[in-house]
Amino acid sequence: MASSLLSTPKLGFGCMRLPLLDPADQTSIDLDQFKQMVDVFLEAGGTYFDTAYVYHEGASETALREALVKRHPRESFTIATKCLAWACPSKEVAQSCLSESLERLGTDYVDFYLLHNVGGARTAVFDAYDMWNFAKEQKAAGRIRHVGFSMHDDADTLDALLTAHPDMDFVQLQVNYLDWDNPVTQSQRCMEVAAKHGVPVVIMEPCRGGRLASLPDDVAAILEQARPDLSQASWAYRFCYELPGTIATLSGMSTLEQVQQNASEWKEAGLFSDSERAALDEALARLKTMAQIPCTACRYCVKGCPEGVVIPDILNLVNLELQTGDRNFAKGLYSWQAAAGPASKCIECGACEAMCPQNIDIIDQLKVAAEHFE
Ligand code: SF4
Ligand code: SF4
Repeated sequence: MASSLLSTPKLGFGCMRLPLLDPADQTSIDLDQFKQMVDVFLEAGGTYFDTAYVYHEGASETALREALVKRHPRESFTIATKCLAWACPSKEVAQSCLSESLERLGTDYVDFYLLHNVGGARTAVFDAYDMWNFAKEQKAAGRIRHVGFSMHDDADTLDALLTAHPDMDFVQLQVNYLDWDNPVTQSQRCMEVAAKHGVPVVIMEPCRGGRLASLPDDVAAILEQARPDLSQASWAYRFCYELPGTIATLSGMSTLEQVQQNASEWKEAGLFSDSERAALDEALARLKTMAQIPCTACRYCVKGCPEGVVIPDILNLVNLELQTGDRNFAKGLYSWQAAAGPASKCIECGACEAMCPQNIDIIDQLKVAAEHFE
């Protein structure tokens, strides 16, 4: 099953930031432009469309019905959609999402169905709502072709999930060159775990939410010097296209021009030359110097914290802001990644600092995080 999903490196069309007619109304999708975007993507050889029950408050799925499902042969594309069970008040509501998604999409089946954002405390909700068995039953009934899950958690968690659910057809992971050896995100280790289980990967966040397409000037200059003809984003995508065992690398595209550029750079993307690889390594090294907190995510500090502050996760986001200069992006991640133990819960007891092998001024950094992200 798994190997049949694999193909040549593929660009996937993420439908979470579609063009809008009214920027204040997430449901006001510019269908005329979206239809052109869909057509250009298909003409370039793309097939994978990624949406979710919640994207654009449900309008992403209905827009796909209008722009894709009604206008192109069903076998010429694949659709992935997702259920966020942890955001649902009951098992019944969570399990009703699939029927509603199919109705909105105007199709009898989806090619890929994801239990979305498994990991952390959210896993228990998927378990409690019996979503794993539900998805498998729906697959047997023909309403889902491939069942998988997405996860923003560490490699050990992924290993445990794939061990507990060996019949998953695929998994969706956050992978990009900035997170590759990040001690919290662990992109490389997660890819290795997926390979160990023989499970192919859909890559999300190849550009780190657009951050790798909008690099600091001195970092961008390194890449531009190596290949003045390529966009910053193309470096991030090519890094992912080279990885084995992937189904698609998702790009959340918002304009016709983005689709044209991404599709053309995808088609022309070859393997990195030695000099390009060296330029990317140099750019990455420069980016990493901007991360000033030397946390290795060893988690020694976490065990002794009486308030359950999720210290390494928070420090990782402080670093992310330092690396990217984008506070709002880090703040958005903080809203759920630090929900279980936000920085403001710190009572300054000092137990964590006594445990930290890196001698990090954790208490002061938590104050920064609380001020920036809460
Ligand atoms: S100083 Fe704050 S973060 Fe550190 S252990 Fe004490 S309460 Fe937890
Ligand atoms: S003990 Fe120090 S290095 Fe380890 S996770 Fe905590 S803050 Fe990071």
